[in-house]
Amino acid sequence: MAAGGSIFNAMLQEFDGAARLLGLDPGIWKILTNPKRQIAVSCPVQMDNGEIEVFTGYRVQYNITLGPAKGGIRYHPDVTLDEVTALAAWMTWKCAVAHVPFGGGKGGVICDPTRMSRRELEALTRRYIAEIIDAIGPDKDVPAPDVNTNDQIMAWVMDTYSMHVGHTSTAVVTGKPIEMGGSLGRREATGRGVMIVTREAAKYVGFDIKGATVAVQGFGNVGSVSADLLAGIGAKIVAVTDWKGGVYNAAGLDIARMLDFAKGHKTIDGFPGGEPIDNEQLFTMDVDVLVPAALENQITLENAPAIRAKVVAEGANGPTTPEAHRHLHERGIFVIPDILANAGGVSTSYFEWVQNRHGYFWEEEEVNRRLEAKMCEAFRDVLDTSVRYRTDMRTAAYIVAINRVATVTRMRGMYA
Ligand code: GLU
Repeated sequence: MAAGGSIFNAMLQEFDGAARLLGLDPGIWKILTNPKRQIAVSCPVQMDNGEIEVFTGYRVQYNITLGPAKGGIRYHPDVTLDEVTALAAWMTWKCAVAHVPFGGGKGGVICDPTRMSRRELEALTRRYIAEIIDAIGPDKDVPAPDVNTNDQIMAWVMDTYSMHVGHTSTAVVTGKPIEMGGSLGRREATGRGVMIVTREAAKYVGFDIKGATVAVQGFGNVGSVSADLLAGIGAKIVAVTDWKGGVYNAAGLDIARMLDFAKGHKTIDGFPGGEPIDNEQLFTMDVDVLVPAALENQITLENAPAIRAKVVAEGANGPTTPEAHRHLHERGIFVIPDILANAGGVSTSYFEWVQNRHGYFWEEEEVNRRLEAKMCEAFRDVLDTSVRYRTDMRTAAYIVAINRVATVTRMRGMYA
């Protein structure tokens, strides 16, 4: 279990607050607070030194009422079933908020990919997929990248599945390389979504995003693209941290140079364009926008009182504990919740799946135009709901999501 207690319980607390306001039927409440399917597998892999290691992997299909389960695969030493279940539940609510016809799923393998060779990672990926092969498929469950997984790993997922079914199946996984059916714009989509909702939040809260100061925690796929695209619309990225260190520059960091530096060094620690800082300093910075884009449980009651940002845009899944969120909301800080803020990734995954099933591919402008429309619509739905129910944006996002899933659950009725 991750530090700070059960992540699934944190999800349940968020759910319960919204379900109460919504007056959710107790029976539907029970259905929506239990995972539909949890799979645990052992994945033996022959390592480069000749020894056999056995890695534990999970795939959770939390809810498939609206469509196939959808969600990433995470490789991390701290993966637990509790965490993967919470992440799969968050995918369920995220897909519903984004209005894409998917349920929620998530996968995780307990491993440290930073200490594994490319061959070991390929062997692990193929064995993990072989172990869960009956549960996945374009109409069943469609994985994607998440923490420490990328387009190359998705290529191995696609190939392993295709070898098992005997034909090339592109729609079994999203976030693939462009050459083999990936969508243009998918890699940048989560960060692009973060940029769009942050821009909308600034309009609502009442400050100009041009010249607004931003601090970003995490410089992986989400943090780096969010920083780059926010800088692209005129925001000033003054601080960035990652797993190793961080950099501050009051005049604004050169994100293009930082991206180059990170490619070579695998970290931004030591980047010459500013002074070194750590995570705790990043959180307390006097900025307009804070973007936590790393892991869960980063904003807690310990550091939340020092946060001075006007807007917190949750690029990561579950970065804020429920208690810390209450605290931020009471202080008038506008939090754009994860299930809205980072929904750009799964929205473009949906576009990729649609393109794969049609066998017809869109220009990047079309992908980005549709993403822009989707994110703005989701932001508006959640904002309107928060005004109508006089509640915070997270509770409002859950209300939108629960309402959509509950309506279809009721329509479909009870089997047996
Ligand atoms: N891993 C991403 C997320 O947490 C994307 C999932 C997907 O595209 O299926 O939203």
